[in-house]
Amino acid sequence: MVAIIVHGGAGTIRNEDRIPKVIVGVREAVLAGWRELKRGSALDAVEEAVKALEDNPLFNAGTGSVLTLDGRVEMDAAIMRGKTLEAGAVAGIWGVKNPISVARKVMERTDHVLLIGEGALKFARLLGFEEYDPVTEERLRQWEELRKKLLEKGETRHWKRLNELIKEYPELLRSTVGAVAFDGEEIVAGTSTGGVFLKVFGRVGDTPIIGGGTYANEVAGASCTGLGEVAIKLALAKSATDFVRLGMNAQAASDAAISLATKYFGRDTMGIIMVDSSGNVGFAKNTRHMSHAFMMEGMKEPEAGV
Ligand code: ASP
Repeated sequence: MVAIIVHGGAGTIRNEDRIPKVIVGVREAVLAGWRELKRGSALDAVEEAVKALEDNPLFNAGTGSVLTLDGRVEMDAAIMRGKTLEAGAVAGIWGVKNPISVARKVMERTDHVLLIGEGALKFARLLGFEEYDPVTEERLRQWEELRKKLLEKGETRHWKRLNELIKEYPELLRSTVGAVAFDGEEIVAGTSTGGVFLKVFGRVGDTPIIGGGTYANEVAGASCTGLGEVAIKLALAKSATDFVRLGMNAQAASDAAISLATKYFGRDTMGIIMVDSSGNVGFAKNTRHMSHAFMMEGMKEPEAGV
């Protein structure tokens, strides 16, 4: 009854040439997770799957994270164990390769749930995470282009009405990553992101907010992607697991969660992946795309799509 599902972010993939590459990326990640799942640990499976996506510069997490308004990387990540409700997260961290692994250490080595900024980085260094620059040439170029497009035109709406802005400039929202797995005993969920392109310095999205973008308990786990503020306001990852508690399977609960996001905040706002404790996977989105891949007991090859 084991299962794992990963996502590579909700949004619009404007350049269709990217689609096959993104699909290769999510397939590789789900297989990296599946190998760990076969060894018996949903926790290792989620960490490895998310790490594979963080290390792939196509995705907006770890290497290839997007930049803030003032051109910095501020990454968010969280991981949660469904059996014990143990959780760890980092927000606004930079200078490390794999924020998901730092989040796991917060969970395992402290009694805290969320470390931010300078403190999170100091903690990572204490635990031996080496200095690493996740900024890629491509993201720098995109940052310059987007800034030109928005700021030099006198566009200041990024302080307000982010969801309208994203309809006009879909490239602001891209390729956050996440994974949810069930090893037969426990469900684990993890999410990692550079956030929204040109986000205001210090902005924290849903990804590291337990219950917002990431959640797991004994009945289900969820990882969200999209406009973080939407998932935070709806406590969407937690709400989605509540739907499972009330009797839905992972797919029905994913659909219900996205309906809720659409009802309150409109289309082009949200995507979600889920696993339930019967080993079902679920995924839904109200955006044009959300790359994803999953493996379940009995499958020889992952199923992947956008
Ligand atoms: N949810 C992420 C955030 O708001 C962005 C994304 O999923 O693309 O930081």
